[in-house]
Amino acid sequence: MTDLLSMLANRADADPGQGLHDFAASLFPICRSITGDGVRQTLARLGERLPLEVVEVPSGTPVLDWTVPSEWNICDAYIRDAAGRKVVDFREHNLHVVNYSIPVRAKLPLTELKKHLFSLPDHPAWIPYRTSYYQESWGFCLTHRQLESLADGEYEVCIDSTLQAGSLTYGECVLPGTSDEEVLVSCHVCHPSLANDNLSGIVVAAALAELLRGTAHRFTYRFLFIPGTIGAITWLARNHDAVGRIRHGLVLTCVGDSGGFHYKKSRRGGAEIDRATAHILHHQSEGAKILDFSPYGYDERQYCSPGYDLPVGCLMRSVWGTFPEYHTSADNLDFLKAEALAESLQVCAGIFDVIENNHTYRNLKPHGEPQLGKRNLYRSVGGTNPKQIMLARLWVLNLSDGTNSLLDIAERSGLPFNEIRHAAESLMNADLLIPTISPERTTL
Ligand code: ZN
Repeated sequence: MTDLLSMLANRADADPGQGLHDFAASLFPICRSITGDGVRQTLARLGERLPLEVVEVPSGTPVLDWTVPSEWNICDAYIRDAAGRKVVDFREHNLHVVNYSIPVRAKLPLTELKKHLFSLPDHPAWIPYRTSYYQESWGFCLTHRQLESLADGEYEVCIDSTLQAGSLTYGECVLPGTSDEEVLVSCHVCHPSLANDNLSGIVVAAALAELLRGTAHRFTYRFLFIPGTIGAITWLARNHDAVGRIRHGLVLTCVGDSGGFHYKKSRRGGAEIDRATAHILHHQSEGAKILDFSPYGYDERQYCSPGYDLPVGCLMRSVWGTFPEYHTSADNLDFLKAEALAESLQVCAGIFDVIENNHTYRNLKPHGEPQLGKRNLYRSVGGTNPKQIMLARLWVLNLSDGTNSLLDIAERSGLPFNEIRHAAESLMNADLLIPTISPERTTL
């Protein structure tokens, strides 16, 4: 029986959150984008931990209604003042360059240069994150203080980048289960030095994959490490067969800040992943909020587009765009909290425990209550909360008429899924319960 939460609790490393934070710190300096060597370097690090297949799709390949773009790489970029001093330097922070900027070498007066400069007047010490993916342009991002300190005069700008035919790169880690039905876990790998919006999803997904590798599981798990939007579209265009096997899915993003959890439901709204996640958050994390689906946000937009309508939700802590650090240099390693990452991993483990073990059973003695005392199942239960254990057994016996799954029973009883699952286990061992078909098959 898959029990990821117990595996996590019994692990030797005293502080799993610190391990996640350390991994994020090692990935932080890499200048990623939707294509190019930054993604490859990131995937190479993941490949040291996971069986990762790296896929290269050539620029110009049609993918659904889109086309794989040119590959972008960057060596250096700076702005020099008239005295030759570097006043903005890509090597100090990769957010200084508008991501996907075309190469440029020019001398121009401040008034002209300012058309290509971006800052945040409300947060004068932060550098904004800007991209120019789908229109050719160039620019620099800088702190508002830097901008205000620029004197009139001529400036030299250099962006030593390339934007040419190459490929889009993504990584895929497939962990086969006893069934070929799949669980999709997707996170974006296209942001440069941003911690919560990017690295948090990557390191939690990687830790989940490592955890699942160490145990038997029913579902086949497919972890995607892909550039946002175009990566998901590219994967969907190339994987028609796998798409048909997806039974549950989660997009992981912004799971490392100290804010409370938010779960955005799939387009279906009542999918098992939606219910499992709401259940786990209700019992494992106080104050979590459940959000309805909207066609905006991360790659759930693609997985939940009407032609696919996959049961894929999005797990976040703070919601993108609602915290001031979002898409700025303040989304850094200090903003990422080890204990928040560890808690996010626990929530995901709890969710997968539910979907792995959510079977439906039939009570073999449904006429009157079976006599639990003579089977050693009454009062002798022990444990930390014997009354709850007893209640869970009574709920499972009562509702196991072949139509209610364990999650149905957990929801109706108000008891945690784990308690219900353990009750079913002990009733099975006493020959009072047999499994019927698993619930996800009934909805195919
Ligand atoms: Zn973002």
